[in-house]
This record gives sequence, C-alpha cells and structure tokens, in this order.
Amino acid sequence: MVPSMKNTPVSKKRAPVASFPKSLLAWFATAARPMPWRETRDPYRIWLSEVMLQQTQVATVIPYYERFLTKFPTVEKLAAAHQDDVLKLWAGLGYYSRARNLHRGAQMIVERFGGKMPRSPDTIREIPGIGDYTAGAILSIAFDLPEALVDGNVARVLSRLKMLEGDWRTGEGKRTVWDVARVAVAEVHAARLNPGDYNQALMELGSTVCTPRSPSCSQCPVAAFCAATKNDVQDDYPKLKAKSVSPEWKLRAWIVRDKNKILFAQRGQDGLFGGMWELPTERLEPKTSSSPKPIARVTHVLSHRVLHVEAIEINQPDWRKRFPKNADLTCWSGDYTQFKWLNMDDAQSGSIALPAVQAKILALCAEKTPLFD
Ligand code: SF4
Repeated sequence: MVPSMKNTPVSKKRAPVASFPKSLLAWFATAARPMPWRETRDPYRIWLSEVMLQQTQVATVIPYYERFLTKFPTVEKLAAAHQDDVLKLWAGLGYYSRARNLHRGAQMIVERFGGKMPRSPDTIREIPGIGDYTAGAILSIAFDLPEALVDGNVARVLSRLKMLEGDWRTGEGKRTVWDVARVAVAEVHAARLNPGDYNQALMELGSTVCTPRSPSCSQCPVAAFCAATKNDVQDDYPKLKAKSVSPEWKLRAWIVRDKNKILFAQRGQDGLFGGMWELPTERLEPKTSSSPKPIARVTHVLSHRVLHVEAIEINQPDWRKRFPKNADLTCWSGDYTQFKWLNMDDAQSGSIALPAVQAKILALCAEKTPLFD
C-alpha cells in the first residue's frame, strides 16, 4: 500500500504546527529563488522552461530561455520557425532532441489544438517530448490541476520523507515514488492548496535544502515529517542501483581545408544531434593509432556514452584521395545528408547549429593553429 502524507510518522511529543504541504508552502513563499518562468502562468513559457531545465542547471538555462522567447515569443512563432533557427538557439544546451520535439510539439499545438495547450493529461502526453514529468509540471503550474511530477529532486525528497526502498528511476521503485507523489498532490488539492506551487516547492526543497549530499535537515521546513531524518539515515536515501559503465567511443573529426574554408556536414534529422552541423567525423576502432598527429583532443560525456574526439587537419586534395566523394566517409553515428564549405568566422558566429562538443573542437583548433587566422 502506498503511504499517505497523512500517515507520515510524527513525534507524539512534538506535534507539527501545520500539515506537511502547508509547512512546505509557507517555506516556499519566502525561500523561492526568483526565476523568469516563475513570473508567468503562460503554459508555453512553462513548457519551454521545463524542457530546457531537463539535465541542465538553472543558471545555464536563464539566458537561453530569454533569447529563445525574444525570438519566439509565442507558440505560433515557434511553430512557424525553420528548424535550423530553433537548433541554432539551442546550440550549447545539449540534448538536441529536446529542441526538435519542442518545435514539432509547437506545430502540433497550433495545427491540432488551435494554439492552446491541452489541459487533458492524456492529450498533453501526445505532444512530442511531453512525458509524465513535463505534463505534470505544465498542468499543475499553468492550470492549477492536481497532477503530480517526479524529477530527481522530488524523488530524493519523497524517498527520504518516506524511506522508500527501490531505485526511483526504474520498475517498482519508480511506480512507488510516482504513487506517493500522486497521493500527496491529491491531498494538496483536497486541502484547497495550489498543486503547482506545491510541486515547485518540492523541487526547490530538493535543489536547495534536501541536497544529494549533506542535506540541511536542521533548516528543513518539513523535518518533522521526515522518516529518514528521524532515523538518522538521510544519506542512505534514495536507494540507487549502480549504473552500468558508459561505453567509450573514439572519434576522428576531419578539419578539411580548402584555402580559408572548412568542410562541414549536416546530420540526418533523426537521432543524436539530428539536423545539426559538425566537422565530418568518423568512428575509429579503440586501438587505431592517431596519424597524422591530432591538433586537438576533446572528451565529451553524453548520457549513454563517452566520446573521445581527436581533430585531424587535412587539405582538400588529400581528403579527395581518401574520400573521392564526401559521402564516402561513414558518419560516426547516423548519416550525413549534405556538406558545405564555410569560413571559420561563419562557422563560429552561429550561422549553423553546432553541438557543444564540435564548437569546443573548433575553438581549440582555432587557438592552436595559425591556419585559421
Ligand atoms: S529533513 Fe533532511 S532528509 Fe528529510 S526532507 Fe528535510 S532535508 Fe531532506
């Protein structure tokens, strides 16, 4: 049975002065950090912020969020945009499928729902990129609906409050934490409190007080309701299974020069870095020797693999000997759909959408060799 917040163990000697959600909301009213998306109830803006905040820190997101809204202030403007322009604004934030889904989602909202974000939990999940978490965030924050959400912060807080066993990221552990979150948000709604504020308060508590290491239990507004702190086992929760080690890939990015121009390749629309541009890059066997000598090396960690990229310079005639047609190069992952020559300034000034790892390689190469002056 899923424990209810009402059943949370509470000291008999020292009864709390308010319920769990009231204590949390009273704290949030004074402790919430100002963020631009906290000043709006516009579902489009809340959706954008939630998508950008996945896997990305608040401080990193703020300038991207503001630039994005300057260019695309409404869902209609985003729907009408060219995908390249959306990806350019996203360049550097990573996880580019988020941007492609956001763009496709905006088109769906305009075409199918007349530009209005759906309020139905089932319908909103049909929008590309909107899963359980994002649906809960939009519905509760923009529309005050009693929908739960669970991200890493919420899972950590709930796991400690209830001493939940099991890894919240998969299987039974995931079902349990979502059930606890749903029961709690229903209680919040029944008590005529605001589900959106409650969800945000829980996330804020996880980011600022109930942190992964050394949570500040002595300052916690809901310590009276917390089973883990009562038992002094905060550091044992949440229970997480060890992750498998990410595979490591060795890649070679070719800097193909023709006078002052460099060859770039565009990736296919689907999959990793879909639709973005990069130096023509191939995958090498792990033991392949690096010849000629790379002019730059970069290691980049993705969610499921680690990329070790070496950049090797080659002039156009030598490139042609190796690859009679550009398309003869086998892309390291997915396919290339087109190639073009650009000078360094154009490549670095945002005229093409480059993944962060490629921008890093270009910057290192520009630093290390006068050939790019
Ligand atoms: S008392 Fe400590 S462990 Fe419990 S919710 Fe608060 S900060 Fe987290």
